[in-house]
Amino acid sequence: MSGGETNHAEQGTEDRVGRPTLSCHPEGVDRVVVIGAGFAGLSAVRHLQDQPVQVTIVDHHNFHTFQPLLYQVATAGLDPADVAYPVRTIFGREHNVVFRHGRAVSVDVGARRVALADGGSLDYDRLVVATGATTGYFAVPGASEHSFPLYTLGDARRLRNHVLGRLEAADAHPEDFDGGAPTFVVVGGGATGVEISGALLELLAVSVLRDRLRIDPERSKVVLLEAGERLLPGFEQKASAYAYQTLCSRGVEVRLRTPVAEVTALGVRLRDGESIPAAVVVWAGGVTVDGTLAASLPTPHGKGGRVALEPDLSVAGHPEVFVVGDAGAVPWGPRRAEPCPQVAQVAIQSGRHAARQIGRQLAGLPTTPFAYHDKGLMATIGRHAAVAQLRGGLILRGTLGWLAWLGLHLVYLVGFRNRVVVLVNWWWRYLDWPSGPRLIVADVDADP
Ligand SMILES: Cc1cc2nc3c(=O)[nH]c(=O)nc-3n(C[C@H](O)[C@H](O)[C@H](O)COP(=O)(O)OP(=O)(O)OC[C@H]3O[C@@H](n4cnc5c(N)ncnc54)[C@H](O)[C@@H]3O)c2cc1C
Repeated sequence: MSGGETNHAEQGTEDRVGRPTLSCHPEGVDRVVVIGAGFAGLSAVRHLQDQPVQVTIVDHHNFHTFQPLLYQVATAGLDPADVAYPVRTIFGREHNVVFRHGRAVSVDVGARRVALADGGSLDYDRLVVATGATTGYFAVPGASEHSFPLYTLGDARRLRNHVLGRLEAADAHPEDFDGGAPTFVVVGGGATGVEISGALLELLAVSVLRDRLRIDPERSKVVLLEAGERLLPGFEQKASAYAYQTLCSRGVEVRLRTPVAEVTALGVRLRDGESIPAAVVVWAGGVTVDGTLAASLPTPHGKGGRVALEPDLSVAGHPEVFVVGDAGAVPWGPRRAEPCPQVAQVAIQSGRHAARQIGRQLAGLPTTPFAYHDKGLMATIGRHAAVAQLRGGLILRGTLGWLAWLGLHLVYLVGFRNRVVVLVNWWWRYLDWPSGPRLIVADVDADP
């Protein structure tokens, strides 16, 4: 084990205000640093709690974000606080876990040290990198400047403000909008694109019918653009077909085989030269690890910048460094050559596996390869409509799929308070569905 550094204190004692203080390197106890409090990082820490280690979990947000429900925040169905939970609250009672709020900017794998943006650093004996991915614009000109991504809680809040702001603007000045009403363009027909398209359509309906915004529903539309042959490409063909039919029947204009060449302040330009004017362009075009901390690790990287991993999820030549979740090209296991998809279950299982390998290393045992236990995929399309593709190929659709989707998301949502609030919120909206926090909580004073 290497010498301790900034993560110092005496284990088992108390500080001046009576809080337990923790040594990050008491004799005989390894220091484990986990970077990232997403699904993967939380799962790793939860399975390290009972190990003879001192854990420091670092994140530049002081909360965990439940990304699968971000689209509901963006479309004013849920509040930001309903899908986020403070990391300190999650691990507040754990004697061997401390939280460090900060952005990790580099890892010196030789010196076993993580440098933080605020000038601090953390020495480690074992490291778990769980920094996730980030929005991938894939070099489409104008996309990062003019479209709205949906990856963080901040993105969801910004998008909500912008969408609601554009709806109000259309009420006040319909003449400013092409065709007299706003068009919402969603780029990318994966789960996020499908989910937000359905939710935007519902928000439009509520804005007109309930909030009495003066927007012509015949002219206002949601357009979903997908470059590939079908929606939900990770799902089975019949799930994709169901998503397509359901969205179309509800009024979303879905255009397949339609790659976007450029995003401008006025809308999108397609590769065939056609332009679609848009009040809002939502970017759901995919994610990449390029540009994140994991991309800077001195190891080979695969497609989308994902870190190439050994079968036990460690990094080649550094058995003390593990990469888990979206950041890593997590191997599926002996039966399949390609890496696992970047989904929550992979993050949870890989985080748990890395923690167990650390336990095995400490016990002097050989590490074991990771094997993904595929529990299926889900995407919701709107009220009473979702697809749940279960293990073995069984597909649940419609209300059954929707109920399965609701139940599963409640189970995995972090925090008892959040589960209760979201359940009540969904139930309330089920009975009286136009309700929802349609608040523009922006710097309105700065607006003209
Ligand atoms: C909009 C959206 C919807 C999704 N819906 C679904 C779904 O329905 N079902 C599903 O299975 N999956 C879904 N996913 C994918 C799923 O959310 C991810 O696979 C999962 O969150 C990956 O977990 P992770 O821990 O690897 O990364 P993340 O959850 O991204 O967590 C990474 C953490 O690391 C922190 N971090 C990053 N860099 C640093 C740094 N340098 N220093 C300190 N902290 C850092 C971040 O703040 C973050 O807290 C969705 C993703 C998105 C974006």
